[in-house]
Amino acid sequence: MIHSFDALILGGGAAGLMCAIEAGKRGRRVAVLEHADRLGKKILISGGGRCNFTNLHCRPENFFSSNPHFAKSALARYTPADFIALVEKHGIPTTKKLWASFSATAPPATSSRCSKPNAAMPT
Ligand SMILES: Cc1cc2nc3c(=O)[nH]c(=O)nc-3n(C[C@H](O)[C@H](O)[C@H](O)COP(=O)(O)OP(=O)(O)OC[C@H]3O[C@@H](n4cnc5c(N)ncnc54)[C@H](O)[C@@H]3O)c2cc1C
Repeated sequence: MIHSFDALILGGGAAGLMCAIEAGKRGRRVAVLEHADRLGKKILISGGGRCNFTNLHCRPENFFSSNPHFAKSALARYTPADFIALVEKHGIPTTKKLWASFSATAPPATSSRCSKPNAAMPT
């Protein structure tokens, strides 16, 4: 059987799955190629199994890159609040935790995580 797709995404981790969802929303036929035995394995272990999914005070200056403008553009177009809204739209309960400070000058990072273990987002 021959399948045809508009997009092939290599890797079904957090980035690949998000990319697949967004391409699918735009009407593209998408295939995600994953070589592990299941998708999103690291998502399930993040935050000690409670899916720590964003940092509320994430700023472009927190990223190392040869192109610092990339983080500015990406974070301006999709903010932590956008992802929290997506999770909550699917009825997944979330909680906020103050968890770390990266340096003496940086404010404490506040992360947002699922408050229910093994919560699943329908796609
Ligand atoms: C123990 C642990 C705890 C973590 N906790 C947190 C946390 O609390 N908060 C946080 O923000 N982040 C955490 N992380 C980091 C987290 O893994 C990343 O934020 C996130 O998973 C990265 O997603 P990604 O899609 O970029 O990469 P990945 O999740 O690594 O996804 C890449 C996917 O591509 C697949 N792949 C690779 N090569 C190929 C190939 N050639 N063909 C097919 N498939 C391929 C891999 O199998 C994988 O599924 C944690 C990581 C670990 C290991």
